[in-house]
Amino acid sequence: MSEVKKQLVVFDFDWSMADQDTDRWVFEVLAPDLRRKMKTLKNEIQWTDLVAQSLREAHARGITKDQIIHALQIMPYHPAMVRAITNLKAGGKTTFLCLSNANSVFISTILEAKGLQALFEEIITNRAEWEPSGLLKLQRRVDPEGPQHSCKVGCSPNMCKGEELEAFLARKGDDFDRLVYIGDGSNDFCPILRLRRTSRGLSKRIAHEGEEKGLKAKVQYWGGAWEIEEKFRDL
Ligand SMILES: [Mg+2]
Ligand SMILES: [Zn+2]
Repeated sequence: MSEVKKQLVVFDFDWSMADQDTDRWVFEVLAPDLRRKMKTLKNEIQWTDLVAQSLREAHARGITKDQIIHALQIMPYHPAMVRAITNLKAGGKTTFLCLSNANSVFISTILEAKGLQALFEEIITNRAEWEPSGLLKLQRRVDPEGPQHSCKVGCSPNMCKGEELEAFLARKGDDFDRLVYIGDGSNDFCPILRLRRTSRGLSKRIAHEGEEKGLKAKVQYWGGAWEIEEKFRDL
């Protein structure tokens, strides 16, 4: 395999980088009845809106910013993950990106507590900010009033991680020798479909027109000569 000089490692957050789900954990710790209510309403209200609503209810009953921060700081997060990220970053060739449907405050609070925040190039997630009253105001990444993403893979209305990953690569320059994706959820399916170089004309056309035009060949995707060599061994 050719030498990797520059690689991008993309992390989902909940149950991937961290050993819990931030949106649910905070309420399990501080207001289990709100956690129950979220479970009851999750098919009726869009998830980020539901978390935002639950945060408003928690604030109304006197749950403080400090309590929420503390709940996040004690959330299960494996020390091996801290070591893994720190050591890989020290190797000097890795860019870390976090792609999550949680929110900026939950993720940054935990990454800061673990000393990892500065190791991430970007955290792409839903916007959250503390109001002076101590309310954590949370908004969907994609404004529900504006244009929505165009993904057809089955991403949640609020966020297509595949589109976000492609936009990141377009911003940063897609010159990574290797892309690694660590995820667990159904919304992590879309971005892994895009790990191949789908910007190339042929694979794009196969994807868009292959079935409709009756393409019968068995398609195998490849990135570089070393992969061709590998495939030739099976011929
Ligand atoms: Mg996850
Ligand atoms: Zn998608």
